[in-house]
Amino acid sequence: MLSRRIADLAGSPVRAMLETAQRPEVISFAGGLPAPDSFADLDLPAPPLEVLQYGPTEGEPALRARIAQDLAELGLDAPPERILILSGSQQGIDLAAKLFVDRATPVAVEAPAYLAALQVFRFFGGALQSLDRADPAAAWSQAESRPVLSYVTPTFQNPSGHCWSADERDALAQACDAAEVALFEDDPYRDLAYDACERGPICARLQRASWIYQGSFSKTVAPGLRIGYLAASADLFPHLINLKQAADLHTNRLSQWYALRYLEDPSRAQRLNRLVNRYRRRRDLFAAAMDRHLGGLADWEVPAGGLFFWATLKSGADTGELLRRARERNVLFTPGEHFFADKPTPSASMRLNFSHADEDAAERGLAILGELLSQSAGQTG
Ligand code: PMP
Repeated sequence: MLSRRIADLAGSPVRAMLETAQRPEVISFAGGLPAPDSFADLDLPAPPLEVLQYGPTEGEPALRARIAQDLAELGLDAPPERILILSGSQQGIDLAAKLFVDRATPVAVEAPAYLAALQVFRFFGGALQSLDRADPAAAWSQAESRPVLSYVTPTFQNPSGHCWSADERDALAQACDAAEVALFEDDPYRDLAYDACERGPICARLQRASWIYQGSFSKTVAPGLRIGYLAASADLFPHLINLKQAADLHTNRLSQWYALRYLEDPSRAQRLNRLVNRYRRRRDLFAAAMDRHLGGLADWEVPAGGLFFWATLKSGADTGELLRRARERNVLFTPGEHFFADKPTPSASMRLNFSHADEDAAERGLAILGELLSQSAGQTG
């Protein structure tokens, strides 16, 4: 009675935890939620009535033009006519998968990679393979191992926090050009930069390959607006418009109106600066608390931007098991098993979000994780 592909579709393990995460006694490092107090300084006047009418599939012309200006500064060939406003950048993943992925279509993803993208590519039947960041061209030299699409989040990745170097970015662009692999670059964290790091889009380095570049207002403005955008090469763009039209006609115009107000607000840079300073401080406090409570028990790198620490247990123990015990103590995080091209298998890594829990909660939550890990080290050691 139901479609065959629905059999493989499971809900997101992170979203499943969100409800528990709302309970006041729970300390959550699980989601990627912005700090709730960051919404307080948004200017939200009543919008004009005209936004209640149906609008164009591509999105509001003024918003597309404003986004095109920003993308031109990043070196992207993305005029307003090739900008599509999305109902959150998650929709861009859905549209890209519909455009490229049939059953067994090879898709290259990072290891680890954004779990909700893996779910979408799997849903459409994609055969996921791990991308070798150091030398993508080597793996793609044989036609049979060549992916059709390569999906990457090179700037402050979810979940690893990693920011690709200029050489890594050049190498992937060259590999995509040489092997004619389409590049899908997902860039929702680029503005949350705490330390200097190369952020130039890989799509801007391509000479020939087809591409989709997408961004989001979720991390810098408010995820509840559900506003993202994509730009794409001229061969792909008309198909993406048709897919968007079939999906939901157009993105919510009220939210588009608010997003445009944000972009045109003269104090936008100041507001972003405040947010970045606040998150940098949270990251630093979190890093210090990680040292205090997980030092000697796990390895991690301090991320130069974004919202996540990615930590790997020295013992090699499964973080899924750690989560079961942490839940009993009201602490949540996302175990590493969900972030790889292979179907979930136990992993010693975990993703810890540092933007949502306040300083005291982060300290208590990490102390509990440290305690649980020390206990199990005592049991096995
Ligand atoms: N891509 C990545 C890498 C993400 O981390 C997220 C949100 N967690 C999204 C896309 C989707 O974001 P949104 O739909 O809110 O723009």
